[in-house]
Amino acid sequence: MERRDFLNATLLASGSALLGGVTPLSILAESDWTGFGGVGDYAESNGNTRNVMMAGHAIRDGVFEGKGHEITDTGERFDCIIVGGGISGLAAALFFGRSHPGKACLVLDNHPIFGGEAKRNEFEVDGRRLMAHQGSAACFPPLSSDFLAGFYDSVGIDWDQFRYQEWTGSAREMEIQTAPYGVGGPTSGFYFGAKFGHPEGVWVSNPWGTQLAGAPISRQARRELLQMRETDRKPFSTHRFQPKEHGDAASRHLDSVTLERHLMDTYGLSRETVRTYLSPISGGGSGLGADALSAYCEYAADLLLPWDYKKGAQMFPGGNTGVARHILKQLIPGAISGGASMAEICRGAVQFSSLDQAPSATRIRLNATVISVQHAGEPGRSETVEVLYELGKNLYRVRAGAVIMAGGSWTTKHIVRDLPAACREAYSHFHRAPCLMANVAVRNWRFLHRLGLTECQWFEGIGNSITVRKVATFGTDPATINPDSPTVLTMKILFSKPGLPIEEQIVRGRTELLTTPFRDYERLIREQFTAMFARSGFDANRDIAGIILNRWGHAYLSPQPGFFFGTDGKPGPGEVLRQNSYDRVAFANSDLAGIMDHRMSILEARRAVSQIAAAVDRAGPVI
Ligand SMILES: Cc1cc2nc3c(=O)[nH]c(=O)nc-3n(C[C@H](O)[C@H](O)[C@H](O)COP(=O)(O)OP(=O)(O)OC[C@H]3O[C@@H](n4cnc5c(N)ncnc54)[C@H](O)[C@@H]3O)c2cc1C
Repeated sequence: MERRDFLNATLLASGSALLGGVTPLSILAESDWTGFGGVGDYAESNGNTRNVMMAGHAIRDGVFEGKGHEITDTGERFDCIIVGGGISGLAAALFFGRSHPGKACLVLDNHPIFGGEAKRNEFEVDGRRLMAHQGSAACFPPLSSDFLAGFYDSVGIDWDQFRYQEWTGSAREMEIQTAPYGVGGPTSGFYFGAKFGHPEGVWVSNPWGTQLAGAPISRQARRELLQMRETDRKPFSTHRFQPKEHGDAASRHLDSVTLERHLMDTYGLSRETVRTYLSPISGGGSGLGADALSAYCEYAADLLLPWDYKKGAQMFPGGNTGVARHILKQLIPGAISGGASMAEICRGAVQFSSLDQAPSATRIRLNATVISVQHAGEPGRSETVEVLYELGKNLYRVRAGAVIMAGGSWTTKHIVRDLPAACREAYSHFHRAPCLMANVAVRNWRFLHRLGLTECQWFEGIGNSITVRKVATFGTDPATINPDSPTVLTMKILFSKPGLPIEEQIVRGRTELLTTPFRDYERLIREQFTAMFARSGFDANRDIAGIILNRWGHAYLSPQPGFFFGTDGKPGPGEVLRQNSYDRVAFANSDLAGIMDHRMSILEARRAVSQIAAAVDRAGPVI
């Protein structure tokens, strides 16, 4: 595989550390921002593209405010417009189409491809096509009684088809996970380097099984970590604040304290132990460290989204892009070439020209950043909602009987012009943390096998974990895996800055993300791998086939204490938005739930569609 040479790239800004509340003064040039994007349909859309980021900042900075902009009226009027083409927006389009057969729906998304955080990267390594998630990864077989079971079934997702690569060859077989989240078993390892007094690096294999033997950490830290692990191997489930159902006294208590406080009180951990070893790993699904998050975010998904744990977490080869593609295939059958089997939906080429075509009841317009949503007249009396979007360098106007805002809090709060005060207030309590997902394609993983590892975790440098995963065979070749197989190792890089107020942590992290050039991240990742694996035979020049960076400026909703159940007797901000759809506008996206999970994207979409039904029926016919 060819790797681009970024050494001559123009450097406009480099790691300028800016303080909280101040935005980056100079943004990276395209060549420093994007880097290598892989191959295939997703090659031009790794993470938030630079265009998406620039348009988002223009909205925030009021560039589109006021008069004097030339706007082309497309003359189109849809029954429903959905802002955002992630899983929530696509699911909303599907629910809308099912409840309003034949009615016209337009999905507007600012990226070059649908899917939002559920997109994938594709590599071609030594003649083999590899896929990895850009963001959203694992999916969870639902309980058969669950609404979601019927939903997945209706879009053709058959859980029995998740069969994974099998071990082949003479090398000692090792257990490999199906998703990128480690389980801490016998083939896991902790790495300790210079921060722990070992510049040469020390690996502790099977750290939990060996009671952290040989780990160069203080006796106190060892005792605390083992005690927590022993109290419950899946932390947090048998203590006195264990909630039984969403909204009970225990869950409300948990939502009133930080996760850090809860870990300290419940497990006797010191703050230092939490911040050194569990932050941001603990709470990694919410983007920040335990000190900033509501303790309830460790429990909310389990309580609200129980699933068939026996079947284990599953993963499409490119993560939850598989879910997005299945929904799309239902909406516009010609949008992905081939038939409707899981293999074809996973492997088929996206037919971009059929996404936005007139005879289809649902149309999807890409590269379109919505800059304004407003009722045409006073809410309650208007016939339509006007939606303005930027595409290319031009501005367009379309109209709809109703609008669902599925793009997320980070833009919704800016673009809905007649947003009621209660909603505006609620959105001011949404904090979305940045995340960098780095997919590192390696030609083989012999350097891990020699160490006896398939899961690695570390506590210094860049990133904090990688996990070898076997891939679902309906979507990828070959059907086997061994240490000689090329694979993609995913590093999730979070930016927790413990001790600072939540928004300051986020702004600092985002500044780092927006101002660090591709080549600097590439160098840091190569150095991290070299420090950890050179002694087991890793050679960055030989073994790394490609690195793709997916920069997510507003990746995770990070729920602060009070997010779920509110404070002072008032509902939490997500609940306010659920209850306050107004006239022709309703709100979706996973962030309303405080749980970053694609199942919430689907459930919030379903509710939002039911809320706009009356407005659609009241609106005049589509022109
Ligand atoms: C790193 C990471 C890992 C994750 N891992 C998992 C996982 O393993 N399992 C899981 O279930 N969930 C996971 N998630 C959660 C993930 O958020 C959801 O699974 C789901 O993909 C979110 O879908 P959504 O439609 O709600 O939001 P999004 O995916 O954010 O979709 C919103 C879309 O709207 C676009 N948009 C926003 N504003 C505008 C505008 N003004 N105009 C036009 N378009 C706009 C956005 O750019 C985006 O494309 C993960 C998230 C991240 C960030």
